[in-house]
Amino acid sequence: MLTKPYLMVPGPTVVPERVLAAMNRPMINHRGPQYEQMFRSIVEKMKSVFQTAHDVLVFPTAGTGMMEAAIVNVLSPGDKVLAVSIGVFGDRLAQIAREFKAEVETLNFAWGQSASPEVLAQRLAQDTNNEIKAILITHNETSTAVTNDIEALAKARGNHPALLIVDAVSSLGAIPLKTDEWGLDVVFTGSQKGLMIPPGLGFMVLSERAWQANKQSTMPKYYWDARKTQKSLLKGQNPYTPPVSLLYGLQEALLMMEEEGYEKIFSRHRLLANVLRQGLKAIGLELLANDHNASPVVTAVKAPVGIGGKSIQKYMREFYGITIAGGQQDLENKIFRIGHLGYVAQVDVLIVLSFLEMTLLTLGFPVELGAGVKCAQQALLNSEKQ
Ligand SMILES: *Cc1c(COP(=O)(O)O)cnc(C)c1O
Repeated sequence: MLTKPYLMVPGPTVVPERVLAAMNRPMINHRGPQYEQMFRSIVEKMKSVFQTAHDVLVFPTAGTGMMEAAIVNVLSPGDKVLAVSIGVFGDRLAQIAREFKAEVETLNFAWGQSASPEVLAQRLAQDTNNEIKAILITHNETSTAVTNDIEALAKARGNHPALLIVDAVSSLGAIPLKTDEWGLDVVFTGSQKGLMIPPGLGFMVLSERAWQANKQSTMPKYYWDARKTQKSLLKGQNPYTPPVSLLYGLQEALLMMEEEGYEKIFSRHRLLANVLRQGLKAIGLELLANDHNASPVVTAVKAPVGIGGKSIQKYMREFYGITIAGGQQDLENKIFRIGHLGYVAQVDVLIVLSFLEMTLLTLGFPVELGAGVKCAQQALLNSEKQ
């Protein structure tokens, strides 16, 4: 039967039609006044998204490019860094620091858990000579669907001078993050997650202390040089040709975000995640993260015994056109992940639950059809009364 393509992965996320239409416009000169006006307005608005008064630097790149930019702009070879990891993306940030010859110590937590502020505070308390120059941490660990409490982790740093480098690729714009208020030093994100535009743009903010560290930093950099990018920003430009179409899209996406309001965006993600989790539990499924650490933007579900996560993914895609994500590395085939990040609404939660029930029943998992959907419907109705 005909299927409609239906994307529910945690990036790239669904791009709203308004944004797609806005991107479909002729090129303009990226050194001209029209571009300058658009670019200045975009970086101003991005400051609200980052909750910062500092410059928002824009780079054409995948999110991983921003991970590299964050490391090479504030560190030097031989610097000791503490890499706090709760999954694939935390490990990646540690590996990038290693590649650039930082001395990396890892502080790993079991996959499905969040990082403990107490454990971080204890480790920093042992570092009496302030040898640790930076702490690397992921805000929302997309691979395990767990969100770290960055505010508490930032507090746990106390008076230790280490820079706090935060990967906010799958959180910014969907989960609250207060760059300046929480004292975060380097925060970066990508375009294809909460910002609702296609992949290809990265954004990074440096605190005053991070800009100081940037002056001392000797790791090699050319394309990622934050100072060059900041210098161009003064002229309302980028050092090299920017993907103009993506900026058209971002302009429209930021307008949509302003129209809805950031607080409402955050509560929408939180509500839909809660409703989805209740529905999944009512189906009889086990979730990887507990309610306390669970991500508002992606949910990791344990594949039932005897049915691999991959077969669920495959069936959903082939028979119903619904694309969900699988598990990565150690979690491959053991979980599947449902993305609910960016342009998501109540309709998406009910659709994914109903077709998941049909898929599971077909694959041999005992489901009472409608159990998850009914539970989610009830939860949505209850939320309307509040
Ligand atoms: C998506 C993502 C990235 C970057 O991914 P790219 O594929 O390089 O764009 C980095 N960190 C987190 C937490 C992510 O979710």
